[in-house]
Amino acid sequence: MAENIVVVGSGISGMCTALSLAKRGLEITVLERDDPPPEGDADEAFFNWPRRGASQFRHPHAFLGLMCNLLQDNYPDLLEDFYEAGARRVPFPDMLPRELEDKYVPEPGDERLWVLMCRRATIETVLRRYVEKMPNIRILNHVHIDGVIADQEADRPTIRGLKVRRDCIEAHGAEIAADVVIDASGRTTRFPRWLAELGVKPEEENDDAEIVYYTRHYKLNEGVEEPPRNAKDRPAGDLGYIKYGVFPAENGNFAVIVCLHNCEVELREAIKSGEGFDRVCRSIPGLQPWVDERQSHAVTHPFGIGDIRAVWRHYVKDGEPLVCNFFAVGDAALRTNPLYGRGCSTSILHAHMLAEVLCASTDPIERARDFDTRTEEALRPIFDTSRSEDRSGIRRALAIHEGQLLESAQKGWKNRFGVAFGDALAAAARYNLHVNRGMMRTVNLLEKPGEFLNDWRTNGIIFAYMLRGRSRNAAARMPRGPTRDEMLGLIDASSQV
Ligand SMILES: Cc1cc2nc3c(=O)[nH]c(=O)nc-3n(C[C@H](O)[C@H](O)[C@H](O)COP(=O)(O)OP(=O)(O)OC[C@H]3O[C@@H](n4cnc5c(N)ncnc54)[C@H](O)[C@@H]3O)c2cc1C
Repeated sequence: MAENIVVVGSGISGMCTALSLAKRGLEITVLERDDPPPEGDADEAFFNWPRRGASQFRHPHAFLGLMCNLLQDNYPDLLEDFYEAGARRVPFPDMLPRELEDKYVPEPGDERLWVLMCRRATIETVLRRYVEKMPNIRILNHVHIDGVIADQEADRPTIRGLKVRRDCIEAHGAEIAADVVIDASGRTTRFPRWLAELGVKPEEENDDAEIVYYTRHYKLNEGVEEPPRNAKDRPAGDLGYIKYGVFPAENGNFAVIVCLHNCEVELREAIKSGEGFDRVCRSIPGLQPWVDERQSHAVTHPFGIGDIRAVWRHYVKDGEPLVCNFFAVGDAALRTNPLYGRGCSTSILHAHMLAEVLCASTDPIERARDFDTRTEEALRPIFDTSRSEDRSGIRRALAIHEGQLLESAQKGWKNRFGVAFGDALAAAARYNLHVNRGMMRTVNLLEKPGEFLNDWRTNGIIFAYMLRGRSRNAAARMPRGPTRDEMLGLIDASSQV
């Protein structure tokens, strides 16, 4: 008898797990609490798809090289569908800073360095329509899962199915049987709680990034061209107390994100109103050409999302699975700060690894161990890097909040060397093609984070930059923009008008 594989959640990892398993000939059922996407185009999905199960749905998403190449290698026809819906492919030469524009010389591997630009609504809608055509995938909407069913066997529970929430029972029954349950229910998964009721307590690494992430969507005015991405003042940057970025999407749509440390209470308050958001953005030279009222108009209010964390759940301890026939994939298993744009890429990679593992063996213990080992190998370096980036972001934001220079917040020569090295690396990546290419491979998760630094040529260039002195390098790295005090003055003045 074919295995009854049930995936909970039809977000990015649920759909990609189903796709990858279906490609290998398995039958899959996907259960989803929300509505399917509405009929119509990307705008219809963006504005009118109630998507309460994925609270990040309307925040902009960057789709990095890792994800793009996985899609290209496995589902080239799906990519064509994305392009048809307006998604844009941005190749490496188009991502170069203006200082390197004329110095570009192609190298093998550059063809893997590309990103997709569009709204997440477009990705999800197109993905859904593509998956719906697969004969061996069944998607059931309005099935809100509310618990697990398990046999308590000698060493550990074995999952046998799922409980359906009371309001969905009439349509779907109280219980859904499953041989294998895959938790793809995202960042707010409740499986850890349900498993705890069975005595299963996965260890959890859980670090708060201490930020709030705000978004506002805009559309270019009729007849206005998109400002160049490689403008002198780049449309993404970090002023220490505020991080910001523009996410161009399809058909003149774009979003601006602003990220603030929790301690920036006044700024967080100011930015909640459309007027405050625009005022802050218009004071930053990199954002100004995008949000100027002659250029674009807002199409949404600003909205925020908190509880930004790095989380990793361990369902295998010392090589022993805590539960049989249960696998967590994507954000339900591990998540990183969305500022780095890694979640969809790591989720799709994870989904593909799980499909390989499930097809390689039918033994539940072997499957769990294999999945755990592969997850550690492939995703641990990305997770650890994200977590250490979060920690240095927190140190930096708090130092600036206390009115200190970053250097004085760094204790010990090792940390100070780290800051100087970081500045030299940023400057080298701006002016040197070889370093830029290496850094972009890391940013796009096409290699283990920082692997490009194992190359003597790259290191030689960075050390040469270090010899120029920190202030020159820091100037190349630091975008133009108001200081924190100037920004607070600006929002204070506006509140008195
Ligand atoms: C603000 C923000 C910005 C982000 N930006 C980026 C970015 O730029 N680039 C990037 O790559 N990643 C980004 N991410 C991360 C990315 O959104 C996630 O990594 C990705 O969506 C994970 O996919 P998933 O399938 O695991 O979870 P989701 O996509 O969240 O899907 C979970 C699904 O499970 C369903 N579900 C939940 N509970 C139940 C239940 N009980 N019963 C039935 N169904 C259920 C939900 O409705 C949903 O469809 C961002 C995240 C946030 C929070």
